[in-house]
Amino acid sequence: MSSEVSERIHILFFPYMAQGHIIPSLDMAKLFASRGAKSTLLTTPINAKTLEKPIEAFKNQNPDFEIGIKIFDFPCVELGLPEGCENVDFINTYQHESRDLFFKFLFSTKYLKQQLESFIETTKPNGLVADMFFPWATESAEKFGVPRLVFHGTSFFSLCCSYNMRIHKPHKKVATTSTPFVITGLPGDIVITADQANVADEETPMGKFMKEVRESESNSFGVLVNSFYELESAYADFYRSFVAKRAWHIGPLSLSNREFSEKAGRGKKANIDEQECLKWLESKTPGSVVYLSFGSGTSFTNEQLLEIAFGLECSGQNFIWVVRRNESQGENEEWLPEGFEERTKERGLIIRGWAPQVLILDHKAIGGFVTHCGWNSAMEGIAAGLPMVTWPMGAEQFYNEKLLTKVLRIGVNVGATELVKKGKLISREEVEKAVREVIAGEEAGERQIRAKKLGEMAKAAVEEGGSSYNDMNKFMEEMNGRK
Ligand code: UDP
Repeated sequence: MSSEVSERIHILFFPYMAQGHIIPSLDMAKLFASRGAKSTLLTTPINAKTLEKPIEAFKNQNPDFEIGIKIFDFPCVELGLPEGCENVDFINTYQHESRDLFFKFLFSTKYLKQQLESFIETTKPNGLVADMFFPWATESAEKFGVPRLVFHGTSFFSLCCSYNMRIHKPHKKVATTSTPFVITGLPGDIVITADQANVADEETPMGKFMKEVRESESNSFGVLVNSFYELESAYADFYRSFVAKRAWHIGPLSLSNREFSEKAGRGKKANIDEQECLKWLESKTPGSVVYLSFGSGTSFTNEQLLEIAFGLECSGQNFIWVVRRNESQGENEEWLPEGFEERTKERGLIIRGWAPQVLILDHKAIGGFVTHCGWNSAMEGIAAGLPMVTWPMGAEQFYNEKLLTKVLRIGVNVGATELVKKGKLISREEVEKAVREVIAGEEAGERQIRAKKLGEMAKAAVEEGGSSYNDMNKFMEEMNGRK
């Protein structure tokens, strides 16, 4: 440990209330604690519940490290939200019908401002790492002379894409929203369409909100990025030169989880016994299983699930398929072809609900990952050295997809060409083709070699002397210097 208890710097981590933001924030808090800081996570009662167990386990394993939670009150009903709506778990983020609730929730989080400020005032932390979705946090921290760091939770690449789209507006110069164009100003000829880029019009509520986000970022102390330099060096350099003057790369954050219990206990309680899951994987040949999971915010229509099921069955490959359905879809199993599980029982496993993702990805039996390209999942796949089938749905996922398929060349696109809310179905043939290709296709070998090499680079980056380890040191020194 680098410093005495009394000299520890104190960093607050304030994630947006979504698993894709809470999970990496806990990883970050653990990372900082392991480097001698005191970490405090700020969240609401229901979200605190999912954090308590992993935090306790981490403290038991590392009695010298300091990490805790501060719980803020969030009266959902008074704020006009459904009871218990303390996170976006039951908002199907990428579907049109969830839009109103998505915005209502997003804007309601400002209610936490006052509690944040009184906590900062009483504890006088050395830094506040607040989510990009809390643009007001820069001003809150500034009031008390505390540096605010922004956590976007995405790649340098996608941050650079968004910047260049905003500055050069190449999507305004093409005939239709499905006409491909090159993102002007960005290193590499990255081709995208307006349908994929998902740029919010400046006059819409989201456009106005994103403007606030940018302003709060430029007034902040800097940005922490869940990435490593070797992965996307051209874009890390671009970002630091033109977008945010100060950024530290400290990832892959998922590698903060080293023990079985840490990997198994990430996020929500898994809907499978972790040991059973490992036993199942042990029975399979190395590199033979494809893992399909689409993050914490996606639930497909029954029609799309059926296509996935048929595609998997026809592919003949081993699989673990995580199926997440929203409450309105009910408990029925109309989405599964009759007799599917019986016919595929030797080679397939369906997890209904939450899977211990990192535990699965890190197993040698896994040979490919079908992902929606949420940045946490993408980084977890990269850290595990896996080639991927890319199936972007919304948010900035098409940018991440271009990084995986065009820059790093470790991904095969399933055929997703536009935001999922537009309703295009991916056919069983497309699923079958992509799953076969990633495990056993003509270019699979080369792709696997590239992915494996990136996995080794990812692990080296967080070890002593690695690029992320060193950037973390620089950040800690700067924070210590301000004490
Ligand atoms: N995750 C998991 N089990 C699941 C689904 C998701 O552990 O069944 C984790 C996954 O490992 C990742 C996070 O949830 O850390 C999802 O974040 P991501 O950025 O990939 O997608 P989002 O949910 O934000 O769309």
